[in-house]
Formats: sequence, structure tokens, C-alpha cells
Amino acid sequence: MTKQLTGGCACGALRYKADGEIEFSFNCHCRKCQRSTGAGHSSAFAVDTAEVEFHGEVREYKCQSDNGASTYSGFCHTCGSPLTSRTERFPNRIYIHAATLDDPSLFTPSFTIFEEAAQPWDPPMKNLQTAPR
Ligand SMILES: [Zn+2]
Ligand SMILES: [Zn+2]
Repeated sequence: MTKQLTGGCACGALRYKADGEIEFSFNCHCRKCQRSTGAGHSSAFAVDTAEVEFHGEVREYKCQSDNGASTYSGFCHTCGSPLTSRTERFPNRIYIHAATLDDPSLFTPSFTIFEEAAQPWDPPMKNLQTAPR
């Protein structure tokens, strides 16, 4: 996909645009994503950090992912919407929450991750591959 991606948080204080290709898209069912989104999973896509431009302050907190990697979750400090996530394992990559897109229909998940942590009320999509880890 080479189309420009634009989006932002719920209150509009934080906006982004990304010019590059989406590297991959996924649904993550890990406990960290469940807690930070308040839902059964997060849906996100990966882009090169150099290709995303933010307007407004992305505030981040550090925590451990389910596999022990340090991750940094970015949110809007006004409305608290979760927007981004980064891991020290892939410093050139940033994950953006799919539903923050102005046009969320541009998102198509291609795999699921941490489906063993999925809740019975939000099962992983059946037709998707499990990600290699
Ligand atoms: Zn906001
Ligand atoms: Zn997760």
C-alpha cells in the first residue's frame, strides 16, 4: 500500500501521517494489549519510524510484552487514546493502532499473535495465521 495514511486520537490533539508502505498488520491478544486498549485484542500495523510524522505530543510508558521484550506504548496525554507501540527489538519500526486511522477500512490483519491469551468473548479470527516468533 503506498497511499498516505492519516489518523489521530479521539480528541484530535494528536495526529499522524505515514507515507510509507505498511510492513504488516496484525491482531494481538496479549494481556498488555488487552489492558491498554480495554478490549480483547489490539489491531495494529507496522510502519518504518522514519516515515511517520506526528503532530502533538506522543507520551509513552515502558512495560514488558508477554515475551519479555521492553515495549513503549504511546498515547495522547489529553484523552488517553492508545496510539502507538514500539519494541526495543525492532528500533526502526512503530506499530500504530488500526482504529486510529481516519479510514480504518484500509486495515486488513494478516496474522494474529499471543492467541493463547485470547479471551473467550473475543476469539482470534479463524482464517488468520499465527505469527512466527
Ligand atoms: Zn487525544
Ligand atoms: Zn499485544
